[in-house]
Amino acid sequence: MANYKATGLILKTRDFGESDRIVTILDPDLGKLEAVAKGARRTRSRLGGPCQPFSHNQFLLWQGRSLDGIIQCEVLDSFAPLRDDLLKLAAASYITELVDEVVREKDPSPEVFDLTLGTFRWLAEVDAAPGPVTHVLRAFEVRLLTLVGLGPSLDSCATCGVPVESWADRSAGQAGALAFSAAAGGVVCPACRALWPSPGAPPGVVPLAPGTLRALRYLAGADLDKARVLRLTPGAAREMERALREHIVYHLDRRPRTLDFLDSVLGWCVDTPYHVC
Ligand SMILES: [Zn+2]
Repeated sequence: MANYKATGLILKTRDFGESDRIVTILDPDLGKLEAVAKGARRTRSRLGGPCQPFSHNQFLLWQGRSLDGIIQCEVLDSFAPLRDDLLKLAAASYITELVDEVVREKDPSPEVFDLTLGTFRWLAEVDAAPGPVTHVLRAFEVRLLTLVGLGPSLDSCATCGVPVESWADRSAGQAGALAFSAAAGGVVCPACRALWPSPGAPPGVVPLAPGTLRALRYLAGADLDKARVLRLTPGAAREMERALREHIVYHLDRRPRTLDFLDSVLGWCVDTPYHVC
């Protein structure tokens, strides 16, 4: 069987057999792949240390009939800060679950790889506080959804299709006039929202301030370097969190498992200016 090389991020690992570990790798050119790290759970294994979640590694692999295997592994960046801090660990776990969920096996997406690697770097550098960490998550969520074709409609009404730019004459500046609906597919204009029965059916509707929509549109279109400098007000951060979570749960058809862990850790940080505890 032929050997081959990969350079990728480890999305997750799971125990296999008595001492092996199955590793899920995201490579920009090969896509998502699984490989066994034989003996990785043994104390003296050379693969045990490098084969940890979030690590950015170079791999030499052998090709198997049903499962490939790791021969060698060299760490490019272990992203240790993402494991050393509980809040960053929870955020990185959520990021990798989302990526693992929306990327299919052996379907390369260099853009998703670059986004994930860039987000890990950003997350490793930011203060380990709820405000900066949730800012990273919002930027990641909206960009990931956009890249994989699940992005919410943010440039025009998801119901009637009228562009956002023409909403000024539809009372878009009034507080509570806009809404986000995952079921509708994104932001809903004041005219369409006014047709819904009070107090805001259908279910899962999130009221949006005009500034929150502007911030969402900016994050969806900006690269990570630009997204980093955007300042979110506490109100905008709360609305974005609710809207994007509704959208993610709607499209995954389930709540991400790691959200409970993330919310628990965020809940401990009671002095956060951003998160809704
Ligand atoms: Zn509309």
